[in-house]
Amino acid sequence: MTFKSLGLSDAFIKAVEEKGYTKPSPIQQKAIPQILQGKDVLASAQTGTGKTAGFTLPVLQYLTETKHPKYRPLRALVLTPTRELAAQVYDNVREYSKYVNIKSAVVFGGVKPASQIATLKRGVDILVATPGRLLDLHDQKAVSFKRIDVLILDEADRMLDMGFVRDINKIISFMPAKRQNLMFSATFSKDIKKLANGILKNPVEVETAPQNSTAKKVTHSVFKVDKKRKTEFTVKLIKENNWNQVLIFTRTKHGANKLTQNLVKAKISAAAIHGNKSQGARTKALRDFKDNSIRVLVATDIAARGLDIPLLPHVINYELPNVPEDYVHRIGRTGRAGAKGEAISLVCSEETEYQKEIEKLLKEELNSTVVEGFEPTDTAAPKRAATQKKGSFKKKSNSTSSNTSSTKKPKRKPHFKGNKPNNSSGRGRTGAPKKKRI
Ligand code: AMP
Repeated sequence: MTFKSLGLSDAFIKAVEEKGYTKPSPIQQKAIPQILQGKDVLASAQTGTGKTAGFTLPVLQYLTETKHPKYRPLRALVLTPTRELAAQVYDNVREYSKYVNIKSAVVFGGVKPASQIATLKRGVDILVATPGRLLDLHDQKAVSFKRIDVLILDEADRMLDMGFVRDINKIISFMPAKRQNLMFSATFSKDIKKLANGILKNPVEVETAPQNSTAKKVTHSVFKVDKKRKTEFTVKLIKENNWNQVLIFTRTKHGANKLTQNLVKAKISAAAIHGNKSQGARTKALRDFKDNSIRVLVATDIAARGLDIPLLPHVINYELPNVPEDYVHRIGRTGRAGAKGEAISLVCSEETEYQKEIEKLLKEELNSTVVEGFEPTDTAAPKRAATQKKGSFKKKSNSTSSNTSSTKKPKRKPHFKGNKPNNSSGRGRTGAPKKKRI
């Protein structure tokens, strides 16, 4: 299977070759032909499997083939839950559209809107956005959704978790009813299915890995450590193993700040990334971590989704997440695109229950070691794992229902004029939890 046999044209093949991709990944093999045919797609892909190229390449090809010679209305919209993911998807869009005349842009909150408004005014074919800022810009009439042909929801499960459902439905209400919808989600809970039912029309379901599974090349293990000595143990792990690029997850923003300070005190360069940091600080922390200017990035779950740090070798769960699915996303930061990775969790007595819930989800026992000299002495009552997602522990059968052989041309016509905004779509609203900053 090659990118050519999937139906992609030379301009895109050249762009992916330059990125060093030799063949399409499984999600790309399954999703690209379907998307090129104009079908709605509901895709479940393990993190780090190349899903961004899986939707970006065919959408860019569609936009190129159906481009109006004079007008450049906004025709494709990618919604992502976090600013970091939006920036990353945008980078991909730019790289893949290098050899075609397609204009792209990204908008997200936390930065001044003036330059975003100016960019949108000049005309953009495809926009990557986080929902809140996008709605603000729409309110200010800086962007119109009336000509949208393709809507892509990336990391849809995270958008649900973060309470974006209301915003998403509002954005959709301004779009033409006739359009292609693509939804990508790492996990498939009942709520995601409900959201999908309200947005997608007869979607082709594409699944490439068993749900809630972790990348095969990630080894994960648990160190049973006393709660009060986790920082000391973390410093020891990093120093003794001479690890140079470690992503550490904490449960709280305060915990992330405190650990970062303590690492810096121990002469390990580190920065924190979470919802209370300014966008400037978040961008800098991620950039410094990616280019190895700092050794450790301490994150809350905001960084657990979507971030692509090539060849990230080590992830430490300083605390286990209380929602078991988050474990899968956290350790999905390593072992991406087939690279090897190591995930270590520091578990104190009160987190034993979380560990059990994670093992239940993974259907696998984590290899646990009690570390001599750091044995847990805390005897606090074990915490119960979060119950709100219990329903999603059940694994769905991992059916693969895609048809990968067809590479027909898109059947759609672009919406250049005459499309009324679909304000009365009557789409069911999925219960919207409060937005949370993590
Ligand atoms: P994603 O899951 O979209 O975040 O992609 C994860 C990583 O895989 C990114 O670093 C991509 O550049 C890389 N990637 C995407 N497609 C391919 C491919 N066909 N071959 C090799 N690497 C890829």
